[in-house]
Amino acid sequence: MNQKFRVFATCDIGEAIDLLRKRGYDVEVYPRPEAPPKSLVLEKVRSGIDGLITTLRDPIDAEVFEAGKGALKAVAQIAVGFDNINRADANRYKVPFTHTADVLTEATAEFAFFMLGSLARKLWTAEHLTRENRWGYWHPYLPFLGDEVTGKTVAVIGTGRIGLAFIKKCAGFDMNVLCYDPAYQNHAFVKAIQEINSVRHQHGLVNQQAWIKYVSLEEALAQADFVSVHVPLLREGESTTPTYHLFNEKTLRHMKTTAYLVNTSRGPVIDEAALAKALRENWIAGAALDVYEKEPLPPDSPLRDPAIADRCRLMPHFASAARITRLSTDPAKGMAGRCVQGLIDVLEGNYGGDITKMPYVVNKEAFAR
Ligand code: NAD
Repeated sequence: MNQKFRVFATCDIGEAIDLLRKRGYDVEVYPRPEAPPKSLVLEKVRSGIDGLITTLRDPIDAEVFEAGKGALKAVAQIAVGFDNINRADANRYKVPFTHTADVLTEATAEFAFFMLGSLARKLWTAEHLTRENRWGYWHPYLPFLGDEVTGKTVAVIGTGRIGLAFIKKCAGFDMNVLCYDPAYQNHAFVKAIQEINSVRHQHGLVNQQAWIKYVSLEEALAQADFVSVHVPLLREGESTTPTYHLFNEKTLRHMKTTAYLVNTSRGPVIDEAALAKALRENWIAGAALDVYEKEPLPPDSPLRDPAIADRCRLMPHFASAARITRLSTDPAKGMAGRCVQGLIDVLEGNYGGDITKMPYVVNKEAFAR
């Protein structure tokens, strides 16, 4: 490689940075754990870097692209969600940006499933009972009971990569599945799950055969014992079916009073004030959240209300936080590896320099010839 590329990473992504350095790249990594101030990102971009490695904490918009005009060639996001990157602005400035889809699909789906189980079976509350020496007896129903997961009905909102992987976990627990997705319905996948359900039943592994079907949002919410959300954050104007505050007072009221809500997608998909009210007033049985309207979760968030602590699990945006998923330098296994490969593809002109053929570039539409 003749050209020496300059890259600024807004966070450390581990050994994958060395892959770039070994290729002769000049890489500067922001050393602190929190996001760098935007003014610093602008300063670095203005200094003429070729590539910017970002996370979901960094707002990347016209101001950044303007600062990088003539020099910034690629933004490589270490995440599958890219709602922090203004796609229209990236397209206007003709800067391709990449993401790390697929490699975090199973990790995120399994975490969502574990959150569901933990919430329903009250693992957090039960362990606190033991640790705080409040476990005084074995009793048929005191001090509380949880709810079974096996054989129950789950609504999966958004049947993209993670939604489908989540359904695979649910199938192992013989759950019935209500799918909702206004843009993408994978009927071949539904058929495959039906066949698996049928085989389990035929071999006598279950008494009752589980089912799966696509339904409307209202039907999904009205019938489900669990609702798991797997949509991207799409604000008004970004989609004909925006997901901002998809869960609000109206939709939360569609859920059964015995139902649980799990969200590993993006915080603003749920109106948190409405959810806190729903939990306080027992419109639904509980919620487990990994993502929030504002992250980290503010100290005065209504979700921290001690009155709802027994039915509200709060995780620190942790669903993809598994070793191989986050840090493997192999682009087929890890977000870090896929992130740097996306950057290399663009900067080094892989795929004959045709950005529309680069697998990790998101905004291919801006480069169609
Ligand atoms: P994906 O694009 O494969 O799937 C998203 C699905 O949502 C698509 O099928 C789309 O048609 C559907 N959708 C869009 N609008 C909808 C609406 N209004 N109602 C219902 N469905 C709608 O994305 P993915 O790889 O499955 O990831 C989903 C999201 O999960 C990401 O965008 C990201 O925000 C989030 N995520 C979070 C974590 C975490 O650590 N908590 C990890 C990975 C991904």
